[in-house]
Amino acid sequence: MQYDKNRFKIYALPHPNVLFLVLNPVLIINELIFGQRAPKVTLIDQKSDKPLMERIYIPCPHCETLNNSRLWAKWNSFGHWFGFVCPSCHQIIPCLWNIFSLAVLAITFPLWYFPARFFRRRWLEKEKERLAKVLERPLIQAKSINWVLIGVFGWGVPTWVTFEVVLNVWSGREWDLIIMFIQLPIWIVGGFAWGLFMRFFMNRKGVRQVRKPRLLRLWTHAWKNEKDEKAE
Ligand SMILES: [Zn+2]
Repeated sequence: MQYDKNRFKIYALPHPNVLFLVLNPVLIINELIFGQRAPKVTLIDQKSDKPLMERIYIPCPHCETLNNSRLWAKWNSFGHWFGFVCPSCHQIIPCLWNIFSLAVLAITFPLWYFPARFFRRRWLEKEKERLAKVLERPLIQAKSINWVLIGVFGWGVPTWVTFEVVLNVWSGREWDLIIMFIQLPIWIVGGFAWGLFMRFFMNRKGVRQVRKPRLLRLWTHAWKNEKDEKAE
């Protein structure tokens, strides 16, 4: 499949962003437990004036449809162990596997091979039903997402709970309540900062609207007028 390189920024191996997804061991949990996957090829429309989140496309190599990535957002971002199902041709859009996930899959091969073969077709039917439900409604809009709220309660607080509460219980360390409650606002501020960054990042427009500063505009305007007068 050929892509318009003038219009799209192409994310595929060996692009560093994609390499990061393949090499980051943390993603084992996302891939193997939650079934959150990243497609092998992602396209970003650079000629669109929409927010970044709304101009990311996932091409289907079988029917060449450019699917908006928001089809696999929110609740439909989970459970894609067999890859993404294309809404147009119902074939599988190939996804990446993290190398650590692959290692785990190789070791646990006898545990999942037969169940996966047995359930694959049924699961793909489920995927189609889920897609049909997503297609019934308008896709989520970038501006309707409160990134700051997600940052604080989806990232900051859970990270604090993981590091300060769960790890404490697990390692059997003594509880230091003062440290614990000093850490909480730090993680909340961290989550807040992450939210601000995501809000800025996900709303970036593809086409940059170049606007000269006011003083410069006035100056070029005056200069042009003067030149025109001289020409007359
Ligand atoms: Zn397709």
